[in-house]
Amino acid sequence: MIRKTRLFTPGPTPLLPAAQFAMAAADIHHRTAEFRALYTCVLVQLKKFVGTEAGDIIILSSSGTGAMEASVSNLTSPGDRVLVLTAGKFGERWSSLCKAFGCHVDVVSAPYGQTFSIDEIKANLHLETRAVFMQSSETSTGVRHCVPAVAKLLKDTASEALLVVDAITGLGTTHIDMDGQGIDVLIGGSQKAVMIPPGLSYLAVGPRAWDRMEAAYNPRYYFDLRKERKNARNGESAYTPAVALIAALGAALDWIAAQAATAENPAGDIVEGRKKLIENAETIAAMTRAAMLAMGCTLFAPDAPSAAATSVLPPAGVSSTLFVKELKSRFAAIITDGQGEMKGQIFRIAHLGFFDYMDTIALIGALEQVMVKSVPESGCKFGDGLIAAQGFYAQRSATAAAENKCQCGRSTCCLA
Ligand SMILES: *Cc1c(COP(=O)(O)O)cnc(C)c1O
Repeated sequence: MIRKTRLFTPGPTPLLPAAQFAMAAADIHHRTAEFRALYTCVLVQLKKFVGTEAGDIIILSSSGTGAMEASVSNLTSPGDRVLVLTAGKFGERWSSLCKAFGCHVDVVSAPYGQTFSIDEIKANLHLETRAVFMQSSETSTGVRHCVPAVAKLLKDTASEALLVVDAITGLGTTHIDMDGQGIDVLIGGSQKAVMIPPGLSYLAVGPRAWDRMEAAYNPRYYFDLRKERKNARNGESAYTPAVALIAALGAALDWIAAQAATAENPAGDIVEGRKKLIENAETIAAMTRAAMLAMGCTLFAPDAPSAAATSVLPPAGVSSTLFVKELKSRFAAIITDGQGEMKGQIFRIAHLGFFDYMDTIALIGALEQVMVKSVPESGCKFGDGLIAAQGFYAQRSATAAAENKCQCGRSTCCLA
């Protein structure tokens, strides 16, 4: 049998063909008018994609963690008291980063698979708290954290703490209103919803954060955001940028805009296109959740599922690694195991970026093959998962068209 390799991983995600072509053609020097035109255009589009008017976009040549580090090194000083909200591996990364830069770190944590209690955050917010760091979507557990609720808490308590959000898998899977909600820094990465290879991270930085940088004195050099902003205003980056990835990003943002093309406006619109991207992720995430339950699996994050990735607990006594291995060897489908101590416990299926209905149905079909052959005690039969996913899809198409509402299915939906 022929097998096509397909990524179902929450970063890197499948590459958009238009972005791959743009990369191959990006043979330009970074101190030329051609590059300045490209870079300026990408910054404008990215700003709309992130959804801020007040903030400035900074692109860094690094994986997502580089932008996380830049937000800590540029906004804090040694001894600053900061609050980290953590419920998984990426939340723990915030703690490590803040400690590495000499901050006094308070932590509010939630068990893996769950989200935070706002009351507990309130109790741990002090007058001296200089910044709050959190994820929008915790990719290691598949949980969506409620950024608007944390932002509201900071506003209601007139806190001077900056809100820094790792939205690396939140962007393109959830509606975030940076200016309206009062988020100071929003972070994204290239290998996630924007469908290009790893190697770029980006930050939207709001006015309060720029002010804070004037006084903050932790060391930084390559990731000096103020230097990058100065250069970006002239259409350049401070050092040699990843030119090919920037060309790819430009093509991907054009493609996202074109998802909202109309007869009058064939190029589409990036803000409307972003909504389609989010709706797509929400839909296939919900199809996947319905299928997994119907096949005898359990959801690891049932109360606050992220539309970026679904974390699945296999039937009792079965290792998640079996699913990862069988899907790869039999179908060349790459899903991810749990990270760290969650390895063997959960498997994760991504929905952010360039995935569609066909990918989703195919993966559910392949998972049924694995269940029926390798986990017969589950009682799963061919069609169990597919019927549930098909049913959700058919019913959703009708209601979404009628109401144009969020499909995340959470009782505590941020948009409800
Ligand atoms: C992918 C990811 C990151 C960044 O990881 P890198 O390997 O540095 O790109 C950070 N936070 C979350 C939530 C992620 O999913």
